[in-house]
Amino acid sequence: MAGRLDGKVALITGANSGIGQAIAERLAREGADCVIDYIDHVEEADETRSKIKSAGGNAVLVQADVSVVADCTNLIEQAWTQLGSCDILVNNAGIERTASFVDVTEADYDAVLDVNLKGAFFLTQAFVRKLVAAKKPGRIINISSVHEDMVFPHFATYCASKGAMRMLMRDLAVELGPLGITVNNIAPGAINTPINTSLLANKPKLNALLANIPLGRLGEPDEVAGVAAFLASNDGAYVTGSTYFIDGGLIRNYHEQ
Ligand code: NAP
Repeated sequence: MAGRLDGKVALITGANSGIGQAIAERLAREGADCVIDYIDHVEEADETRSKIKSAGGNAVLVQADVSVVADCTNLIEQAWTQLGSCDILVNNAGIERTASFVDVTEADYDAVLDVNLKGAFFLTQAFVRKLVAAKKPGRIINISSVHEDMVFPHFATYCASKGAMRMLMRDLAVELGPLGITVNNIAPGAINTPINTSLLANKPKLNALLANIPLGRLGEPDEVAGVAAFLASNDGAYVTGSTYFIDGGLIRNYHEQ
């Protein structure tokens, strides 16, 4: 059966873990050749590639630290050199650091903003430059967070990065629309991935969070990946400038005590 992404090349940052890994596997199942970006854990990146290959797909590994602009440029170049194109960009790599606002260090601020915002910004720029030169359309999917919109005390750097990602997406949807390039955000709530290891180990905190999620459970990475596949495919051709919340209803669950 023909896949929705046959003939397309997708590049997914942070594709050796959690949500990025699930998205790479899903886009490959839909027919895309995938570039798996990783920074440290090559064994996990290789595991993603093996799963894709054993399901009949094609994937290459490229190491790149998205907070380094030269790495971003090289990542896009590698996609074109090794796979002949780059049609879909998923800005997924992200980190968080917790601290009271008064204790946030310059190093923590730089780490979070450099990966979550600067990385997505300059990788998107390198992606768009190549599309413009090749006169091709494209798809940009940012993995932001419910915290592009929802407060998260003691995570000011994370909120600043994801809130900026929301505005960047809206701005680029308008600027790049005439080029046939769509830009959308996926905003996960609490998803079962390594970024939540300490939360998952803290039962009282986890139960308090679950009480706020109308669907009563954490999401799974593949539930985020399904929406990424939709946005990358022809089914999502007329969607741009939107955020999709994948959060079991968390963001809508404000109520008076
Ligand atoms: P994760 O399992 O910790 O994955 C994060 C990925 O980003 C890892 O592959 C990591 O690589 C990579 N990464 C970190 N710094 C990088 C850098 N400088 N350059 C390239 N890659 C880098 O967490 P996740 O939950 O899947 O998170 C994926 C995205 O979803 C993030 O943007 C996160 O903010 C967002 N999100 C997650 C949740 C959730 O509940 N899980 C909720 C909302 C939003 P290494 O493993 O090699 O360090």
